[in-house]
Amino acid sequence: MALTSAWEHRPPQTSSTCASLETIFAENVFTRKIMSEYIPENILSQLFDVIDNNKPLGRDIAGSVALGMKKWAHEHGATHFTHWFQPLNGGTAEKHESFIEIDHKGGVLEQLSGNELYQQEPDASSFPSGGLRNTFEARGYSAWDPTSPAFIIGDTLCIPTIFVAYTGVALDYKTPLIRSIDAIDKAATEVCNFFDKNVKRVHVNLGWEQEYFLVDESLWAMRPDLVMTGRTLMGHASAKNQQLDDHYFGTIPERVLQFMTELEIESHRLGIPVKTRHNEVAPNQFELAPIYEDANLANDHNQLLMSLMERIARKHHFCVLFHEKPFSGINGSGKHCNWSLETNTGINLLSPGKNPYSNLQFVTFLVNVLMAVHEHNGLLKASIASAGNAHRLGANEAPPSVISVFLGTQLTAALDEIENATAEQAIVINAKKEMKLGVAHIPEILLDNTDRNRTSPFAFTGNRFEFRAVGSSANCAAAMLALNSAVANQLINFKNEVESLINAGEPKEKVLFKIIQRYIRQCKAIRFDGNGYAEEWLREAEKRGLDCETSVPLIIDRYLSDSSMRMFTQTGVLTKEELQSRCEVKWENYSIKLQIESRVMGDMVINHVLPPAERYLSVLLDNILKIKSIFPENEAEELTKQDRQLVRKIKEHISAIISEVDSLKLQRKTANHEPDLRQKAILFHDNIFPLMESIRHHVNALELVVDDELWTLPKYRELLFIK
Ligand code: ADP
Ligand code: MG
Repeated sequence: MALTSAWEHRPPQTSSTCASLETIFAENVFTRKIMSEYIPENILSQLFDVIDNNKPLGRDIAGSVALGMKKWAHEHGATHFTHWFQPLNGGTAEKHESFIEIDHKGGVLEQLSGNELYQQEPDASSFPSGGLRNTFEARGYSAWDPTSPAFIIGDTLCIPTIFVAYTGVALDYKTPLIRSIDAIDKAATEVCNFFDKNVKRVHVNLGWEQEYFLVDESLWAMRPDLVMTGRTLMGHASAKNQQLDDHYFGTIPERVLQFMTELEIESHRLGIPVKTRHNEVAPNQFELAPIYEDANLANDHNQLLMSLMERIARKHHFCVLFHEKPFSGINGSGKHCNWSLETNTGINLLSPGKNPYSNLQFVTFLVNVLMAVHEHNGLLKASIASAGNAHRLGANEAPPSVISVFLGTQLTAALDEIENATAEQAIVINAKKEMKLGVAHIPEILLDNTDRNRTSPFAFTGNRFEFRAVGSSANCAAAMLALNSAVANQLINFKNEVESLINAGEPKEKVLFKIIQRYIRQCKAIRFDGNGYAEEWLREAEKRGLDCETSVPLIIDRYLSDSSMRMFTQTGVLTKEELQSRCEVKWENYSIKLQIESRVMGDMVINHVLPPAERYLSVLLDNILKIKSIFPENEAEELTKQDRQLVRKIKEHISAIISEVDSLKLQRKTANHEPDLRQKAILFHDNIFPLMESIRHHVNALELVVDDELWTLPKYRELLFIK
């Protein structure tokens, strides 16, 4: 394509000014500090009890809170309010209502009632529910989540809520995420109490790192695939892409910096503590990360940030791409989820301790996480599997299609030492009855561990685990709730085992040690520090019995395995019915994504690829004819040789494309007629996806030979290098 207006300078419509961070931070959030100015003290203490101590939320306090919240919002220019929730189609949903109420005296009032804060019935029956709401009881309700503060965007007060059916069945990501946080709180607190009776609560921390691509808005608009599917369905790699690694951590282009600056200011206003920004590996790829927070809030903030990014990017004439693989041949985007557990006494349970006793606690939690990830490795893969992320999984760049855990050399050595020690060697109880862990001295240096293995999907990084397999467009809650529940369930099992042995008269420290030692042996298969992209690893992983499935529709089955069902129901995070429905949503989502992609591909081929290819073909044929009409036959033969070869090549690609697009249509028809959602997704995976790959191959070959003047689609080299 010949570039004309695309790179013209258009000043961004930025409104941001440089204000001090401290003054603007959370200025649009109904924070605790602000609450204390707007809510009566007795109500406030009840509300804080709900937030801090997991006390049930009574309807009675909602009225006073609503009154204060509305007053504050109104003073900040809000005229509307919305329950803000996270349905299963990804993204967030809002249904705005004005504060208007009839005053029954012929006028109106502006108010927010307790009921309006507490619960709404947005109905929202078009959101996916996996068949859960097909009955007359199909109403969907949103209910206030007081643990995540309300905030204002524009003229609207946004109230974070859960979204459930009339029957209480979860229809969103937030409900089970909160349940999983409660489950791990309870289970981890009980295990902590083996070490410290003062621990009353355990929080889950989440620090996400959001990767994304930026594309110039006008070029984006010329690519139907980017507009409709968020990724390029065709396009040959440009001669230069990321080989030189010259983009990674490089200088941020001025235009991008302006976008990032405005984004940061707006994020800070909404209380999102964004901290780092940098270029990523691929051209036009960037990353943004906040300071970690409580997992529920962190997840809300990630969802909020994603919508903020889309909005602010447009102001700077960019389009932001959250797709996991918008461009083939260069790195895709992930959303690393940094996860840790912290007690109310301020101890990070995944941070090596300062003394042997706290190290035993650290090892206890570490090994229980390993056990959980080992048992549920297939499920964890299912929690991050999607049509988009499938392009990353196993695609010879992060992450591999097998879940394994990287621990690093020091920690591996420490676990080996524990594994091989006798209890007597390991546990030395001195005269004062203080326990000493005689082995496995875990040096503090571990905290500065830079031994990073970028090929691992789940890596220990000094004081937390980093779940790297999560896709950039995903709601982190899907992965986090699976991890939380698996670990919670494992901690419950651990606690029961410990207690039964203690009750049988064995000393606590020895019991803890013995069980940990057994666990280390039991879950060894999940530990892998080598190159996760290597072919040999796949073979080895298979031998170790790890889940090696690569087909997304089949990976989704893992939600319904016996061990997943048992784990989710025992922890109370998801019922059988909810699991079944979530799978249906996932299968359906997969099929819809591929259905749209294959349709867009068909259209693009017919409208954008074949016409320029045919036109160029006719130019070549004209040439050949003209040469033949001017030159003697034997000379013309020689002179037209290359053109004739090219004609043949182009013709072959065109024929292949036409016949494959026909098959694509037929296959799609068959898949669309399949009533079973799982089977339908399998058909899309097995029959449609490979055809799309093949069509792509032919289109890319044409792109390389057809005259650039005729090619209407912006090419990778035009899309990918913002200056
Ligand atoms: P890197 O790219 O090296 O992994 P970043 O600094 O980009 O590191 O991101 C690290 C993320 O991990 C940040 O969101 C940070 O807040 C988060 N993080 C740091 N410590 C913890 C912790 N103890 N628990 C959870 N998240 C953490
Ligand atoms: Mg990271």
